[in-house]
Amino acid sequence: MKKTKIVATLGPATCGYAVIRELMESGVNVFRLNFSHGDAAFFTGAIASINRARISTGLSAAILQDLQGPKIRVEKFEGKIQVKKGEILTIKDKMIKTSGVEKHIAVDYPGLYKYLKPGRKILINDGLVQLMVKEIRAHDILCAVTAGGDIEPRKGVNLPGANLPLSSITKKDRRDLIFGLKHGVDIISLSFVRSADDIKELKRLIKGKNRPLIIAKIEKPEALGDIPAILDESDGIMVARGDLAVEAGFDRIPAIQKDLVKKANEKGKIVIVATQMLESMTNNPFPERAEITDVYNAVLDGADALMLSGETSVGKYPVKTARVMADLIKKAEAEGSEVPGGPEVIKGRDIYKNAVSYAGAAMAKMIPSCEIAAKIADVSDVAYLSDYRPKKPVVACVTDRKLYQKLAIYHAIHPVLMKTASETNAAEFVRKNIRGAGNLVFLDLNAVSGQSARISVMKIGMAPNKNIREA
Ligand code: PGA
Ligand code: MN
Repeated sequence: MKKTKIVATLGPATCGYAVIRELMESGVNVFRLNFSHGDAAFFTGAIASINRARISTGLSAAILQDLQGPKIRVEKFEGKIQVKKGEILTIKDKMIKTSGVEKHIAVDYPGLYKYLKPGRKILINDGLVQLMVKEIRAHDILCAVTAGGDIEPRKGVNLPGANLPLSSITKKDRRDLIFGLKHGVDIISLSFVRSADDIKELKRLIKGKNRPLIIAKIEKPEALGDIPAILDESDGIMVARGDLAVEAGFDRIPAIQKDLVKKANEKGKIVIVATQMLESMTNNPFPERAEITDVYNAVLDGADALMLSGETSVGKYPVKTARVMADLIKKAEAEGSEVPGGPEVIKGRDIYKNAVSYAGAAMAKMIPSCEIAAKIADVSDVAYLSDYRPKKPVVACVTDRKLYQKLAIYHAIHPVLMKTASETNAAEFVRKNIRGAGNLVFLDLNAVSGQSARISVMKIGMAPNKNIREA
C-alpha cells in the first residue's frame, strides 16, 4: 500500500462511473473538480459517479473543489487566433465581430488598460504566448508579440508584477462555493492566494462545524512572503507549479517546491505538488524519463500528495497514468533512503495529540513487524501522525462516513470505516488484512477529554506468535 496520495483532476475524459472506479482502484485518493472549467451539470454528474464508485469499491476518496480565484482569462470567440513574433495584438474591452479590425482579443477584466503601462509583460496560456505592452490608446492595449503561438478562448492570462485591484474571492467563487458546500465536497482549494487574509476570508464564508479542509494554492510570488501565516490559517498548501512558473520565473520552481514541502511538513500541514508531473502521458502511453524522476523526487522531498491535471482530465490514458504514478510512488517509498522521517518535533497547536502521535510513530518504527492503528474522531487527530511519517500506513479507525472520505488526502493515513473504532476492531482488521503483522500500536487521541481532565492513551499490543491481541 502506498503512503503518498494521488489527486486526479476530472474532465471530459474521466467523468463517468466506470473510469472513476478504475482510477480509485489504480491508486487515486482525491478527485479534483476544477471550477475554472465545466458547468453545474458536469460537476453534479461527476460527484454522483464518485459517490457510486465510493460505495462499489468500498474505498475512501475525497472530493476537492478547486475555486478559480482571481484569474484573468481570454474572452470567448470562435476558433483560435494565431499570433507571430513581431506582430501587434490589441487587447480590447470587447471582441469586435466585424472583419477588417486589427488582430485583437478581449479579457474578462474590462478596465485592464487602466493598470498597465508600456513595457509590462502579458503572458497567455501558461506563458506560451508572450506580449509586451507598447501603448495604451483609449481603452485599447496595443501589444507587441514577443513569443508567438495560438490563443484559444478561456486561456489564462498572467500579468507578472501588476498589482490589480482584484478581490481574492470573486463572485463566481462565491457561487461555486455555495454549490460545493451543498454537494458536500471534502476539500476546497483557493487559487492565486496572495496572503493569509485570503484564507481567513474564505473561512468566514464557510459556516458550520466540520467544514471542508482548506488548501491554499501557492502560485503568486506575493504568497511566498506570507507562507508561515498561510500555513497557520489553512489545512495545507499546493505547490501550483503551472502558474507559479509563469509568475515567479520557471527556474525558481525546484527550490520553491523543496522549501514549501519542508515548511508544510514542519507545521504538520498537507502539501500537494502539482502540474505536469506526467504531462507527456496526456498523449502518450509512456512517461518521459524526466517525468519519472520528477515524481520519484517529489516523494523524496516529502510531499503528502501528487496531482495529475490534463493527464486525467483530457488525456488519452487517464487510468494508465494513475497506475504509472502509483507504481513510481511505491518504488520511491520502498527505495528512497532519503524519504524524510518527518520533522523532529512539530511546533504548536495541540501538545497532547502531538506528543502521542510522535511517540506512536517512533514506537512503530522500533518494534519489529509493527502496525499502527488509531481511533480518529477529527482531522486534527491525523495531522501530526501523518507528518511524523510513520514507516507504514496508519489504520485510521473512523465511524463517521464524511470523515472517512476526508482522510483520504493525508499522507500515510489509511481510513477504515468501522461500527465501533475500538482497539479490538483495529486488531481484528490488522490481523485479517495485513500479512506478517506481529504487533500493534493503538492510539486513542481523545481517550478522556473533559473540561478538567484529559488523558491521551497509547496501547501497545504484543503478539509473539503473530496473533495480535490487545494489551
Ligand atoms: P491550475 O492550478 O491547474 O488550476 O492552474 C495548478 C497550477 O497552476 O499549477
Ligand atoms: Mn494555477
